[in-house]
Amino acid sequence: MTEAAIRSTADDPRLADAMVAFEERYGGLSYSITGGNTMDYGLEGETSAHDTPYGLAFTGIVDGHWTWGVDVLLDGRTAMGPGRWPSRVVDRSLEQRLERHAMLYEVHEWYHQPFECFTPSNVGLIADEAGLPPPVPEAGGPAELWWSGPDVAVQARLVGWPPERDRWAVRYFARHPRLVLYDAAPAIFAALWHETVPASWCTLCSEPVAVGRPCLRRPAPSRR
Ligand SMILES: [Zn+2]
Repeated sequence: MTEAAIRSTADDPRLADAMVAFEERYGGLSYSITGGNTMDYGLEGETSAHDTPYGLAFTGIVDGHWTWGVDVLLDGRTAMGPGRWPSRVVDRSLEQRLERHAMLYEVHEWYHQPFECFTPSNVGLIADEAGLPPPVPEAGGPAELWWSGPDVAVQARLVGWPPERDRWAVRYFARHPRLVLYDAAPAIFAALWHETVPASWCTLCSEPVAVGRPCLRRPAPSRR
């Protein structure tokens, strides 16, 4: 969308400035992280501004994982409320959003084991980081956290926020299968103080998790 077109639809000058800046920097950006639906950025056609619990926002992103629109707040944070769930701030900035996606792209073909972790609604995930690789602050936000070292990375992503409690998908990634076999469960259970269980389904591979065998994502045929 051109600047003139944006300014003609946005009557609030702060909103118009935020939309123009967003469109200049991110408009037309589209990428797939793990080979699935794309993350699409940009103001196309009917871009509507609306009020959220966090202030005025516009829908500038379609999230391919959720197949749902993401609100961009005027301060650059993003918020989303898929289905009947209440709106939540998911990224503290657009840069952080790109960083967390880049982290997943980097490790998504490593061996891994998925876990599920449940926390009280809206309190955030608290981890004892002693047994984890160093945190990656640039990729971390209210709905996703990363720890990463040369051979191991851990991702915790908020994947469900019905009113009762929050559900996090936690993934332990490692370059070598034995690291997953022997270290993943002890490291994750020691790090997370909340109710945490091994997941029975891997959303990265879209396959059931075989007990006692690390998961390895097979690259899509078109990519190799
Ligand atoms: Zn998997």
